[in-house]
Amino acid sequence: MIDNNVFRDISYGLYIVSTKYENKNVGCVINTLSQVTSENPIISFSVNKNNFTNEAIKASKKFAISIISEKIKEDVIFKFGYNSSKDMDKFENTDFIIESGMPVVTDGMCSYIVCDLIQTVDCGTHDIFVGRVTDTKKISNDKEMTYRYYHEVIKAVAPKNAPTYIEDDNINDNKNQNKSDAEKTNSNSDIKYEKYRCIICGYIYDEATEKVKFADLPADWKCPRCGVGKENFVKVNE
Ligand code: FE
Repeated sequence: MIDNNVFRDISYGLYIVSTKYENKNVGCVINTLSQVTSENPIISFSVNKNNFTNEAIKASKKFAISIISEKIKEDVIFKFGYNSSKDMDKFENTDFIIESGMPVVTDGMCSYIVCDLIQTVDCGTHDIFVGRVTDTKKISNDKEMTYRYYHEVIKAVAPKNAPTYIEDDNINDNKNQNKSDAEKTNSNSDIKYEKYRCIICGYIYDEATEKVKFADLPADWKCPRCGVGKENFVKVNE
């Protein structure tokens, strides 16, 4: 028997892996980075095969890892975490440098690592990429962001392609909602305000704050955090 809650006891950080695909800068958020050796340092991480960045790393055989700090702007982490580089230039309006030919995100980062790809391990839905470090640089002394911080402070959930994605993440999180917070009543009327959660990124639409009922939002309304449509929202129950 596999209890998915056990996987929540594994601690992770958050990183952006970036590379070049032809002339395009591409990248995505990862959380499974680890240092494998210290002498001639080697690191590894996994990426879903459906991610455009996976294909790009295999093609370029080089990549950079930026270590995300707690100071990162939310729009940067959500842009890299919930969109595909196939559809957009994620580096637009984001601070980055070119190092050893690789685009390296520096916006809200602690440091970065540049690597040559030395091995790819096929793990079914994901590949493990193993890289030999060729360059590293410290950018700031800001605290590195942990996965727990991402969940508990930023209140975001793992996207579907994440290796640590858990199908019922959203349901469990709903149960943890503060009951008194789950619904608010406007003192001037009988309007009952509800909250709706984006099942993709965890964004909460709070009718009490927005003063617009979720049902009254236009059909083409999009999640302000990850850009998906209304159909990806579920009501937060008590
Ligand atoms: Fe969302």
